[in-house]
This record gives sequence, structure tokens and C-alpha cells, in this order.
Amino acid sequence: MGSFLNVVIYRVPEKLSLLHPPSRCPQCHHVLRPYDNVPVLGWMWLKGRCRYCRTRISPRYPLIEAITGLLFLATFWQFELSWTTLSVWILICWLICLTCIDLDTLTLPNELTQSGLILGIVSQTVLLPADGPHWTTAIAAQGLMRAILGAVLGLWIFEVIGFVGSFLTGKTVMGGGDGKLAALLGAWLGWQGMLLSSFLACALGAFIGGGAIALGVLNRRTPIPFGPFLTLGAFIALFWGDRLINWYLQFFFMSG
Ligand SMILES: [Zn+2]
Repeated sequence: MGSFLNVVIYRVPEKLSLLHPPSRCPQCHHVLRPYDNVPVLGWMWLKGRCRYCRTRISPRYPLIEAITGLLFLATFWQFELSWTTLSVWILICWLICLTCIDLDTLTLPNELTQSGLILGIVSQTVLLPADGPHWTTAIAAQGLMRAILGAVLGLWIFEVIGFVGSFLTGKTVMGGGDGKLAALLGAWLGWQGMLLSSFLACALGAFIGGGAIALGVLNRRTPIPFGPFLTLGAFIALFWGDRLINWYLQFFFMSG
């Protein structure tokens, strides 16, 4: 899957077909053999170079393969053999592609945000209820409502953030794609998970972005993509969301 995500990340912004031509070296266009294409290891035993023209191959390819593998494993660890695991695996694929494309191009392609939103609705209506004791149309309808509510709220909140932000700073603070990504997360995670992801994304963005500016790594005027922070927030919400919310409630209601 990680290898395929690399193909998506490279080809979707270029509007190229995902299936044709087969994987090849971006420099010499030599078609890769199956043994060149072994995830992570292929890159390592070729010492990060193309076998045919010796051009350097970015370490991002094996890195994305490794991250995909680790996240799939962590999901299986947490949700075991279930429809939830399958659902989270699909979400992980979409988020990895969107994050990398946002880092590369500062855009979140509609093809991915729209298809991801639809899959999120399917997940809430069909996949997640299938893990319950019995799947009924009433439960499916609840899932559908949950997905739509989360998506609409995600879109709306980012609309407000964008409006208030540009009112205060006089420039565009949020890309149009960010709201669509929040809608996608609302469909997959429900409005609670979407709110937690967005809150974490803002905190991480302020911390990491602010830190990078303070250290002089980034210029104040350099546009920083927000999609990667939303993805990071979503992963934290997915794996630690319940614990975070419990901790938060305890902190404010037990000690107060
Ligand atoms: Zn080559």
C-alpha cells in the first residue's frame, strides 16, 4: 500500500493515470523490475539510487512506505481484526496522500477530498456499524447522520476560521482545501473527533510553525500548509482520543 501511495502522491497533482505507465525511474524512465520495487529494502540495497542511471531516489519513498506499514500495524494493534481496522486503514491511505501532496504543492486535490468524504460516509453507514452486535437500518441511518453532521460542521468551522482570520490579518489564512479536509475528517470521525483533530492541529501548527519561525527555519511570510497538521491531529484523535478526552474531563471536573 505504501508503494502505491507514493504513486498517488506523485501522479495525482500531475493529473497522470495511476495505473499506466507502470512504476519507473522519474529520471531515466526505465521501468522498475519487481525486485527494484520491494518496499523500503529495495531502496536500501540500491543505496538510494536508480539501478539503471544511478540518479538519487528521494528517501521520502521508503519513508512513506515505512510510515504506512507502521500505522497499519498500530491500527491492527488497537482495533484488532475488525471492520473498524479496515475503515481506519482506508482513512490512513487518504490522509498520507493528502498530507504529502499538501507539503509538495500547497493544495489538497478535490479528487482526494471528495472521494475521501464519500468513503467516510460509507464507513459510518456500513463498516463501523458492522462491528456492533447487529446491523440494522436504524443504526446505519444514525451513522449516516453522524457522518453528515461531522462533515457539515467541519466545513462550517473552517469557513468561520477563514473569515475571522482574514478579517483580522487582512490576508487569506486558510486554503479552501483545509475545510474540505475537515469535512472528510468529520465524516470519518464524527463531529467530536473532527473538533479534537482541528484543535490539536491548531495547537501543533502554532507550536511547530511558531517554533520554526522563531528558529529562523521559516520566514513569517512563507505559506505553511495546514493539511499535515490536521492529519497529525486526526492520528492523535484516532489512537489516543478517548484517553485525551477522559484526561481533560478529569482535569477540569475532578480537580475543580
Ligand atoms: Zn533511472
